[in-house]
Amino acid sequence: MGTKGREIVGMDVSRLLELLNKAFADEWLAYYQYWVGAKVAKGPMRGAVAAELEEHAGDELKHAGMLTERIIQLGGVPILKPEVWYKMTNCGYEAPEDPHVRALLEQNIKGEQCAIDVYKRLLETVKDKDPVTYNMVLEILEDEVEHEEDLQAILEDVQLMK
Ligand code: FE
Ligand code: FE
Ligand code: MG
Repeated sequence: MGTKGREIVGMDVSRLLELLNKAFADEWLAYYQYWVGAKVAKGPMRGAVAAELEEHAGDELKHAGMLTERIIQLGGVPILKPEVWYKMTNCGYEAPEDPHVRALLEQNIKGEQCAIDVYKRLLETVKDKDPVTYNMVLEILEDEVEHEEDLQAILEDVQLMK
């Protein structure tokens, strides 16, 4: 824990750590939803869809890493037990029980829209209070906005195929 780094945070650090851990839980669940979705995908353009889902899985894992680093910098502990992800998550987990590419894309678009809301709110919470977290959250938010658009573009292509 960086003592000065923690001192300059102009808000309740334990509340901030809780919000960061909630986002951390979301990222792991999003990672797995994408990762396993890419494996089971069926239907038109499955190769392109699986490649996009895999790429997004990698990004979500990267976000989990960014959040962990910030949590540790602030003297917190990242969630240590996967079962706690379910208790802490904002956006939940949707099992890809219907492996059709359209269903997978719709599920993941919903997840991205939830992530965009969560990070937008977090950005407002830390604005003018914690510039380091602000920058990190902004970087993640930019990725989530890109993810949503990527998925909507592929879904459009899938729908144009028939
Ligand atoms: Fe993410
Ligand atoms: Fe995302
Ligand atoms: Mg992409």
